[in-house]
Amino acid sequence: MASIDRQRLQAAIDAELKRFIGAHRRSGELFERAKKSLLAGVPMNWMTRWAGAWPVFVREASGGRFTDVDGNEYLDLCLGDTGAMTGHAPPAAVEAIAAQARRGTTLMLPTEDSIWVGEEMARRFGLPYWQVAVSATDANRFAIRLAREITGRPRILVFNWCYHGTVDETFVTLRDGVAGPRDGNVGPPVNPAVTTRVVEFNDLPALKKALSEGDVACVLAEPAMTNIGIVLPDPGFHEALRELTRQTGTLLIIDETHTICAGPGGYTRAHGLQPDLLTLGKPIASGLPAAVYGMSADVAQRVKDHGDLLNQDSGGIGGTLAGNALTLAAMKATLQSVLTQDLWDRTIPLAARFSEGVSSVIKKNALPWHVTQLGNRAEYWFCATPPRNGAQAAAAVDADLDRYMHLAALNRGILMTPFHNMALFAPTVTAADVDLHTRVFSESVEAILTR
Ligand code: PMP
Repeated sequence: MASIDRQRLQAAIDAELKRFIGAHRRSGELFERAKKSLLAGVPMNWMTRWAGAWPVFVREASGGRFTDVDGNEYLDLCLGDTGAMTGHAPPAAVEAIAAQARRGTTLMLPTEDSIWVGEEMARRFGLPYWQVAVSATDANRFAIRLAREITGRPRILVFNWCYHGTVDETFVTLRDGVAGPRDGNVGPPVNPAVTTRVVEFNDLPALKKALSEGDVACVLAEPAMTNIGIVLPDPGFHEALRELTRQTGTLLIIDETHTICAGPGGYTRAHGLQPDLLTLGKPIASGLPAAVYGMSADVAQRVKDHGDLLNQDSGGIGGTLAGNALTLAAMKATLQSVLTQDLWDRTIPLAARFSEGVSSVIKKNALPWHVTQLGNRAEYWFCATPPRNGAQAAAAVDADLDRYMHLAALNRGILMTPFHNMALFAPTVTAADVDLHTRVFSESVEAILTR
């Protein structure tokens, strides 16, 4: 097996940083200016988490490409970490957004577009009742609140190393089998171990035990984990999860925010899942802040039976900008003309080509790495065997290697997703673009191996 030469790796990072600095002078100047008015020089703190010496400031983006303020052009395989899975500025959505902006943006009254969106979501996901939120985070928070309210149970259950947005209850990991706040948890209201049970993905005995106490309102789960690399469910896992949740009166919330990569009805439709609630955000309005959450007829009835829940303007569910006219127009256009079967028909083969390319380089160099594809998303990870749970995946994180691979790609005109090694494909990307990534990946790897 080939191994990484750590000295060569460090030297390569230094050389790539120098190259980055030389090619991103204008971004550097803007970053210096930004530090005077924006905390850490960025409008949102995650934007510091890129591999370069400073963030790349963007000039404009279209389809699968963008240009930075220094004039560098990139193939964008990050796509706003799924928010721009539609490709940047898809014409049908841009037109609908511009037209609605001229007719009014937000009124706290419904527009007819909202009914079209509700009907389309019901058709895609098989759940009859829907609500709109501003972000996937909010959709998850509201789904959790509804679940707690109608079950009268205090806790939720998540899988170790999950990510569902900035939802307080979910920032919890297992350490030596004991749940506690995840590293970096900023100002938690309470220790999330109080609100949340955590088990490993694919660990059915642990799941059974955790649910058997009868105090868990809901399981909140991605159908395949996508935020600690891609961790696929074992065969039979979802059937067992559904059976155990039903047996114990626990609601099942499936978060499709990333796994919408599997097709127009997400992983849920592709694999016949039967959640009680479902959440989805990010690309649904072509990158405008918007999300939806849907529920079964049974959950909707229980919500209605539960006092005056839907008349609560101070009950922790909703938001003045949620469901506004602009985002509903964007959602309608996106669902009608952009996030259609055709998008997946174009992009799933690109993810397959990416995976084959990366896999061939891994094999050729006998590296202990692997690549996993899920619909139009693919990700390489630094361990030989695909992990079965979050802890195994987290154990393979290699910060230096990550930084180098991302920086080498960036310097050669390819943007990968920060926090992980994920590639997503806009429908306008070509096979030649994917092959460029394979070449860059191969050269980057060969520069740091010992032979
Ligand atoms: N759910 C999942 C599975 C996610 O990956 C994310 C964001 N990465 C969210 C929810 C939250 O999305 P947002 O940050 O847009 O609220």
